[in-house]
Amino acid sequence: MSSPPQAPPGGLVELTGEQQAIVETVRHFVDRDVVPVADELEHRDEFPEAIVEQMKEMGLFGLTVPEEYGGAGLDLMTYALVGVELSRAWMSLSGIMNTHFMAVHLLKKYGTEEQKRRWLPAMATGELRAALSMSEPGAGSDVQAIQCRASRDGDHYVVTGTKMWVTNGLRAGLVVLLCKTDPTAQPPHRGMTVLYVEKEPEARRFEGITIPPNIQKMGYHGVETTELVFADHRVPAANRLGEEGDGFRQIMDGIEVGRVNVSARAVGLATRAFEEAIRYAQQRYAFGKPIAQHQMIQEKLADMATKLEAARLMMLQAAKKKSAGARSDLEAGMAKYFCTEACHEIVTEALRVHGGYGYSTEYPIERLYRDAPFLLIGEGTSEIQKLVIARQLLERYRSES
Ligand SMILES: Cc1cc2nc3c(=O)[nH]c(=O)nc-3n(C[C@H](O)[C@H](O)[C@H](O)COP(=O)(O)OP(=O)(O)OC[C@H]3O[C@@H](n4cnc5c(N)ncnc54)[C@H](O)[C@@H]3O)c2cc1C
Repeated sequence: MSSPPQAPPGGLVELTGEQQAIVETVRHFVDRDVVPVADELEHRDEFPEAIVEQMKEMGLFGLTVPEEYGGAGLDLMTYALVGVELSRAWMSLSGIMNTHFMAVHLLKKYGTEEQKRRWLPAMATGELRAALSMSEPGAGSDVQAIQCRASRDGDHYVVTGTKMWVTNGLRAGLVVLLCKTDPTAQPPHRGMTVLYVEKEPEARRFEGITIPPNIQKMGYHGVETTELVFADHRVPAANRLGEEGDGFRQIMDGIEVGRVNVSARAVGLATRAFEEAIRYAQQRYAFGKPIAQHQMIQEKLADMATKLEAARLMMLQAAKKKSAGARSDLEAGMAKYFCTEACHEIVTEALRVHGGYGYSTEYPIERLYRDAPFLLIGEGTSEIQKLVIARQLLERYRSES
């Protein structure tokens, strides 16, 4: 695959030499080892064991883990750039990393020294990988409606409830679990707490945890999405993040990291769709000339590239702000909303450029087309992003008036 039209991040966000070197390394790796096999693995819905081993060896799981705990100590911006490159090859690779990085972020920010020493070194190597579980069968957008209950019993919590849509739910050895420690609290978010639940990776049954067969999806294959059923599962109180009642605020902070990641995934996926479309348009002939010479195809390419560039800049701005430690729900929400909607439109146009061949499993655009809709939903739907954006705007303008 030829190299992507890499957007100079313009004057808005300058990449450091180290970031550029990491991007080049990851791009080389995916072009050599992922692009040639991604379609086949995806169609077989096969977990990319060998690729993940390489990602571990490259230190990708420890990118944002501080050096004192064995990681590279890099920032969220670098992680986002890596997410773009991975998703350009296969979005599921970025999904394998996303919940892990949210867990690292929360541990760095809210964990005790003992918790950091216990988990971060193994997370840095990727030997220990993390999932993040808040959604339930009856509660997705409405996070405060979760029912999963953790009751205190001496120096443990006893957890009961069913979690839904847990990305990496089977292979994770650590689950960042949002549950209710006080179901009577008003407003409900005051009764929500995060526990770091340790479990046996790949075990369908572990103590009080059962993992039913993986949820079957239209795309986003290779990475598993599962339910987690807790029945009187005991978690040491020492695994609680911060204090009881802090959980909702912590998870919302972690979700901003997730929203930057999803924006980066959207940019990577859309970059690939654009590359596939512009190449195909120059090879496919209709009415005696390459379709790229027909103005309506040129219009599509121009629209796709313009939306892609705008998405890339928004993603970089949101990553920069979150990297600096600032509250960034407005920027992360806008980036998530814009980048994922733009990605969906770009992928759809890229499929049209391919004509009937776009519908065939022989071309990667078919896979990209099935992957893109998930980005509109994960880490909060577009509708929810718009509510977050509007709430922030109203707060901002009220305080300035
Ligand atoms: C493949 C996959 C992987 C996932 N991985 C994870 C994971 O690792 N961890 C995790 O915790 N969750 C995960 N999720 C869950 C995901 O975060 C939720 O699906 C998402 O937040 C939406 O929740 P829901 O599906 O319950 O939809 P609902 O909340 O039921 O929403 C249904 C529709 O109603 C709209 N809606 C809801 N409320 C409003 C409102 N107030 N105003 C306007 N419209 C509204 C929504 O936008 C949507 O269009 C995953 C989901 C998928 C599909």
